[in-house]
Amino acid sequence: MKRLLVIGAGTAGTMVVNRLRRLLGTDEWKITIVDPIETHYYQPGYLFIPFGMYSKNDVMKPKPDFIPVGVEMIKAEADVIEPDQNRVKLTNGRILNYDFLVIATGTRTRPGETPGLEGPEWHRSIYDFYTIEGAVALAKHLRTWQGGRLVLNVVENPIKCPVAPLEFIMLADWFFHEQGIRDRVELIYATPLPGAFTKPIASKYLGDILEEKGIQVVPEFLVEHVDPDAKRLVHYDETELEYDLLVTVPLNKGDEFVARSGLGDELNYVPVDIHTFLSKEHPNIFALGDTAALPTSKSGSGAHFAVDCFTENFLRHVDGLDMLVPYDGHTNCFIESGFGKGLLIDFNYDVEPLPGRYPLPGMGPFALLQESELNHWGKMMFRWMYWNVLLKGQELPLPARMSMSGKWHK
Ligand SMILES: Cc1cc2nc3c(=O)[nH]c(=O)nc-3n(C[C@H](O)[C@H](O)[C@H](O)COP(=O)(O)OP(=O)(O)OC[C@H]3O[C@@H](n4cnc5c(N)ncnc54)[C@H](O)[C@@H]3O)c2cc1C
Repeated sequence: MKRLLVIGAGTAGTMVVNRLRRLLGTDEWKITIVDPIETHYYQPGYLFIPFGMYSKNDVMKPKPDFIPVGVEMIKAEADVIEPDQNRVKLTNGRILNYDFLVIATGTRTRPGETPGLEGPEWHRSIYDFYTIEGAVALAKHLRTWQGGRLVLNVVENPIKCPVAPLEFIMLADWFFHEQGIRDRVELIYATPLPGAFTKPIASKYLGDILEEKGIQVVPEFLVEHVDPDAKRLVHYDETELEYDLLVTVPLNKGDEFVARSGLGDELNYVPVDIHTFLSKEHPNIFALGDTAALPTSKSGSGAHFAVDCFTENFLRHVDGLDMLVPYDGHTNCFIESGFGKGLLIDFNYDVEPLPGRYPLPGMGPFALLQESELNHWGKMMFRWMYWNVLLKGQELPLPARMSMSGKWHK
């Protein structure tokens, strides 16, 4: 029996074992997946919790429900990979040998790495919404908040789902209108980027929408520390930004076990071939999802397209053939913009988000880089798709690689 070991049963790991269990014979391949946490969280749903649109129960389901028959699931944490011996040590002392290994341990927020963020004011006047605990605590706070200056700050890039902060601030605009206190709330988006988004065309479109909504963007704000008593963010150049309520997206980093295994970069992401996900050092180790060091947005949708390419390539690789389906960085994200509307962006390593229609050229029905009600419904449908189609590794009638058809470009 050949052994495939997957570390991390989140979005990417779950999709991989579902796909490969169908394709690899049970008489030839043993597939094992390891994760210490029993609950699968639908992370895109965290965005809606602070505004009372979703509750905690709307975003959680048991992980084993999504692991197919014929895959061994071990509830444990990986401690270290020993690549030269093709084995992984778990923190409970158990050792798992493998022939092929997939690292899919994602990324998470590290508020402790920015001085002043965690402390007595954490979840009193400083909140996050990138964790279930943060999103739930912020929902409780917003129910009775009387207004003031809300600053949303991204500490450093890359972060997973880089559009989520924009969605948060636009939903906040809608939410405070609904509460009848928008005139008492100042909304500020302080970002390390030079504008609203990473790429120039989308940055212009999104920046204009923020301006129309009366949301101020403070670009190139690199926070050095937070002074929680004075309620101020302090930039490296010592300029300050005051807040009444701070919503932070802390530094994102991969799991420490990647660093302990000597496989990570400075943010614990695994350097891999950006088209095949194969480790640059080890011919039997792949990294997929947020934990892979790829020059594209860390997102569930990107992971989905990546897994499409990966599974075909994996079957070739184990038979000693070249991997012929290169992933092109394809990602798309709905961007909820409030008042029942949303936008959609579709891009890859080489092509930035452009206006147009998706997935059918000219017809859509989704509008790229344009607000529409249909895009909002696409976003709301995504949760159903996630639980029922994507996680279970079902095929979508969408090509894994990005198409230029339907995009308006010069
Ligand atoms: C607020 C928010 C909004 C988002 N919105 C969107 C969106 O609209 N669209 C979109 O496509 N994406 C969105 N995302 C991003 C998306 O959720 C992630 O990109 C996706 O879940 C990444 O999948 P992953 O498998 O790489 O990581 P995860 O799904 O995070 O899974 C990692 C798994 O690894 C496990 N693990 C970690 N360390 C170890 C270890 N040492 N041993 C064993 N297991 C370990 C964890 O327990 C976890 O189960 C959003 C994320 C957030 C936070």
